Amino acid sequence: MRYICSLPEHHGEIFDFPFMPTITLTSCPVCGSSKLEKVFDAVDHFATKEIFPVCECRECSFRFTNSFPSEEMIGRYYDSADYISHSDSDKGVVNRLYHYFRKGMLQKKVDLVAAHAQGDSLRLLDIGCGTGYFLQAAKERGWHVRGIEKNSAARESAIARTGAVIEDENGLWNLEVGTFEVVTLWHVLEHIEKLNETLEKLQDILKPDGVAVIALPNHRAYDAQCYRSFWAAYDVPRHLWHFSPGTVEKLLKKHGLKIIETRPMPLDAFYISMLSEQYKKSNFLLKYGRAFLVGLIGYLRSLRHVAQSSSLIYIVKKD
Ligand SMILES: [Zn+2]
Repeated sequence: MRYICSLPEHHGEIFDFPFMPTITLTSCPVCGSSKLEKVFDAVDHFATKEIFPVCECRECSFRFTNSFPSEEMIGRYYDSADYISHSDSDKGVVNRLYHYFRKGMLQKKVDLVAAHAQGDSLRLLDIGCGTGYFLQAAKERGWHVRGIEKNSAARESAIARTGAVIEDENGLWNLEVGTFEVVTLWHVLEHIEKLNETLEKLQDILKPDGVAVIALPNHRAYDAQCYRSFWAAYDVPRHLWHFSPGTVEKLLKKHGLKIIETRPMPLDAFYISMLSEQYKKSNFLLKYGRAFLVGLIGYLRSLRHVAQSSSLIYIVKKD
């Protein structure tokens, strides 16, 4: 295939590729409308400083990165020892805080799953399991765990940690219908190019009374409104899809799934605000002072209005 590259550093150059290096959507992946408009340009602050437009569907208000690197090309945008969910690095204050809070969060996640799942001997699949900490905590509850992880180094680490079957992304498509009581995606769906196919498969592999637990950033959150294109959870181009409670509901409904409960993730507002200040190159006082204030206001608001939480956990069942 001949292809005119639209990546900024090769703009207009012609390459011979067996696949498309970037993907530009001309219709909304949620509702199919072609009425798309750019909301702003977002910068890949984390890795390359390249610019990626964020679009919104005028029909259903779903936001997404457009254009974005294809699955074959996106690896280099994750290519950093600092990519927090894949690494166990404890360099820097933000990383150290993240690791400090992780332990408590893991127990909360397992408790949340236990509160919604039926039965003791659960079969649980974690899609995008990273280095396997959640699977380890789930296994310690006596559950039968399995994982999907695209990154090979993270996958090896998850296998060593849990002794469980952890496959690459291709493993998902071979799983049998009605296999799992629980499927979890902790901040993963926003990274997956095959958005609709993944949800269709999720619906398939869940048992009839199974539960899916899906954690996603929420661009309607208070901290997202404060930081706009600097909001760290836009995280282009690693985040392809930018969700809100309304668009998640529409997308799930399309795949025969329904939200039975929505839970806030209150600590995310602090973490995301600190990263956003870092991306704005704020001085020390703003980086910690203002980030704390935005995090605190976001946190307090999310106590009253769950839909304003920086990240949300959707508890999902078959419709
Ligand atoms: Zn739409």
